[in-house]
Amino acid sequence: MTQTPTEIEKHQYDVVIVGAGGSGLRAAIAAHEAGAKVAVLCKSLLGKAHTVMAEGGAAAALGNLWPEDSWQVHFRDTMRGGKMLNNWRMAQLHAQEAPERVLELEDWGALFDRTKDGLISQRDFGGHRYARLAHVGDRTGLEMIRTLQQRTVQLGIDVFMEFTVTDLMKSGDAISGAFGYWRETGSFVAFEAPAIVLATGGIGKSFKVTSNSWEYTGDGHAMALRAGAKLINMEFVQFHPTGMVWPPSVKGLLVTESVRGDGGILKNSDGKRFMFDYIPEFFKAETADSEEEADGWYDDKKNNRRPPELLPRDEVARAINSEIKAGRGSEHGGVYLDIASRRTPEFIRKRLPSMYHQFKELADVDITVEPMEIGPTCHYVMGGVEVQPDSEMSGVPGLYAIGECSGGMHGSNRLGGNSLSDLLVFGKRAGDAAASYVAGLGGARASLSDADLAAAEELALAPFAGSGAGTENPYTVQHDLQQTMNDLVGIIRIREELERSLAEIEKLKERSKHLVVSGDRQYNPGWHLAIDLRNMLLVSECIAKAALEREESRGGHTREDHPGFDDRWGTLNIALSLNAAGDGVELATQPLPVMPDDLAAFFEEDH
Ligand code: FAD
Repeated sequence: MTQTPTEIEKHQYDVVIVGAGGSGLRAAIAAHEAGAKVAVLCKSLLGKAHTVMAEGGAAAALGNLWPEDSWQVHFRDTMRGGKMLNNWRMAQLHAQEAPERVLELEDWGALFDRTKDGLISQRDFGGHRYARLAHVGDRTGLEMIRTLQQRTVQLGIDVFMEFTVTDLMKSGDAISGAFGYWRETGSFVAFEAPAIVLATGGIGKSFKVTSNSWEYTGDGHAMALRAGAKLINMEFVQFHPTGMVWPPSVKGLLVTESVRGDGGILKNSDGKRFMFDYIPEFFKAETADSEEEADGWYDDKKNNRRPPELLPRDEVARAINSEIKAGRGSEHGGVYLDIASRRTPEFIRKRLPSMYHQFKELADVDITVEPMEIGPTCHYVMGGVEVQPDSEMSGVPGLYAIGECSGGMHGSNRLGGNSLSDLLVFGKRAGDAAASYVAGLGGARASLSDADLAAAEELALAPFAGSGAGTENPYTVQHDLQQTMNDLVGIIRIREELERSLAEIEKLKERSKHLVVSGDRQYNPGWHLAIDLRNMLLVSECIAKAALEREESRGGHTREDHPGFDDRWGTLNIALSLNAAGDGVELATQPLPVMPDDLAAFFEEDH
């Protein structure tokens, strides 16, 4: 085993942010403004993070259209959407601080769509009682990233682009830095920093059909586990109800919920508007049960209940899945989403410009005259690193996690729009907390250990070393993992299949020890994937293990063999940590933090 690393580039910072999406950039700005020396590292180019793809908007109780809206109502909607499994304190902070964070974006130059009175316009999304999503057409993420990126550059924060972090470094129990490589040259870099903020996004690339981009390989989740942090809520994976199903090359690509928020309805192959058949008891009081009332809601939201198409995503995705399974699906295995028969072409082109172009260019479908074919697609992971709600610090001193790679905020199901606001609220909190943690160390800093750097380097190069004995192609292993997760750990789960998935993941882990990559270290996507696979396999194991353990159906976890809630599980989290051998994960149940009485009172009418 190598003991000394080869000559590597080294940097020293107070706070290193891994990820340049909405959460990472917001954290970087906060840490910088609090006086820390900050670096942002990201796999792709600045401005290309996943956040840029966000369409519908950022949820915040601004009350611009509905003065009745308040943080309390937003908090209640969020907890109910998460089926009460959310970390109550995170949900409270999120609802309280989202308006200020959105307005601050506007101060920094974000141009939101406006109401007639010149206020930030807000749109309807599933599970939100009031129109609450601040938006920019259906390109909100683009505007958010543009604004945050511009401010990051203005403040002079250092950004390392096309740079992948492979491992975190520790000194004793605490974080001391991060190790990674330039994607272009393949050369290694070490960052010495007492605080690392993981803002690496989600895990969707472990599934075959997904709305997620190539970057979503669960790196932050896996690195946190390996550093000794815990993951929670990993069984809860959100399958967005509406992804494209045709043509095959774009299967899974997102069709924004704004289509339903703006009047789109779901129909099966018999032409039936089927969502009325799937209103769960939990949401009966607030959901319209006739077409007349549902349609009336768009004109008179005060006196009508919401259309069932705007139930939370888990409910709508399950309903679509059931229709397809019952043989009432569309030509290419989805169902129909129809806005053409309900809104004028001008309205559709103005409110949903990206969707109009997406379908026209990719599927040759004009959504102003014909329905879209859609079906569920893996979209978001509710699970992530367990953190302190106020500071976002994990169980490892100096290690923070925010955005999609943190867990707790969304419970078992995230409401649309609540991610973008989550990024802003907890990004700022983590940036502030990390800067103050470093200041509190009073200049004491641990240096990086040569042995640890050498070990990280050896691990990263292992796929090249395998070329002699190696037989496995990383693309084939990735393909087989994606198929396994799609088929056995998908939207509807059952014990036998989950057990089979874990056996398959073990086989894939074994195969991944024999990966072979050809070529050299200069921009080598096969090698990059071989490194990412280590993370994808670990995270997939977490999802499958937790899904097998939770014997109930709740939010983004549906067990065919355990339908419905089980009260015993309603107060428990499943926490995962790396096992002693470091080659897999072990699981424990732990009680949810108890909500104080003044907040619990908001839910009394539910019982
Ligand atoms: P990201 O924006 O994904 O950024 C992750 C960053 O981490 C990237 O810069 C990446 O390069 C970097 N990274 C990852 N691994 C490494 C590594 N190993 N080393 C270095 N860098 C790394 N939510 C809403 O609230 N409203 C919406 O309207 C909405 N629409 C959406 C539409 C689509 C199509 C999709 C896919 C999602 C949507 N979401 C929406 C969800 C939301 O966009 C994401 O949850 C959110 O943007 C995640 O932000 P983030 O900061 O956690 O990570």
